[in-house]
Amino acid sequence: MVPDRRLRDELIKFGRLCYERHLLVAMDGNLSALLPDGSILCTRAGCHKGFLEDDDLVVIDRSGRKLRGAGNPTSEMQMHLACYEERPDCRAVIHAHPPISIAFTIANVSMARCVLPEVVLTLGTVPTVPYETTGTRKLADSLRPYVREHDAVLMDTHGAVALGTSVLEAFCRLETVEHTALITKTARDLGGAKELDAKEAAHLRSMGLKRYGGPPAAVAKVDQPGADLPAACVGCSGCANPHPQGIAPKSELRMARVTSQPMAPSPLVEAAIAQAVLRALST
Ligand SMILES: [Zn+2]
Repeated sequence: MVPDRRLRDELIKFGRLCYERHLLVAMDGNLSALLPDGSILCTRAGCHKGFLEDDDLVVIDRSGRKLRGAGNPTSEMQMHLACYEERPDCRAVIHAHPPISIAFTIANVSMARCVLPEVVLTLGTVPTVPYETTGTRKLADSLRPYVREHDAVLMDTHGAVALGTSVLEAFCRLETVEHTALITKTARDLGGAKELDAKEAAHLRSMGLKRYGGPPAAVAKVDQPGADLPAACVGCSGCANPHPQGIAPKSELRMARVTSQPMAPSPLVEAAIAQAVLRALST
């Protein structure tokens, strides 16, 4: 039996599942897994992930050079290499184009929020990496600080990347992101998505990191107030309605910043609050 047979079978199986679960279509996305010798098994460029065959998988070294297989490695190879470099605990990466999650980034609605208890417990929040051109080293580099702290991230107007200690774990995280997006979108369609109580969110996250682990950088924050949650989850009242220039007035409730970075208090924010209060008082 080929030594990497098990991982080959898993990439083929989870590629099909990504397609069947509507997480990607056509030639979208790419999957990879770390082989025992440290090289990387990944999908080749230009193949349909729903119908992967053995020949669609290539082996590359940690600098992206092809070692075995036919065809070129995926054009998003840099993205995968960055994940393995930043996260020594990572053994599998899946990049897909989950439609509802992508729509959140296009609509500028953040998924770095605490809505579903079980997601806060097991995954934390999902930040959005600012837009960069697909397939570039710039995009891969912009992912680095985010994947250091999160197991799943969104890329603005593009897609999602999920990391795991196995292909199954990476797939579960990807699936969870899209499922959360679907529930949140449905709630918003029905009138609004309420968020978890700040204390409960912090309690859940800290419990989850202790019970299930997570990115080493997140686990290191487990005993800090709010653990690794962004300010929007842990009681920054203004953060419930942030705006690129500060806190938005009520009429712009649909706006939300797309990163997990807490907003530093600034005169701009103070001025925005004062204006919003004045406006509210005068109506
Ligand atoms: Zn992509």
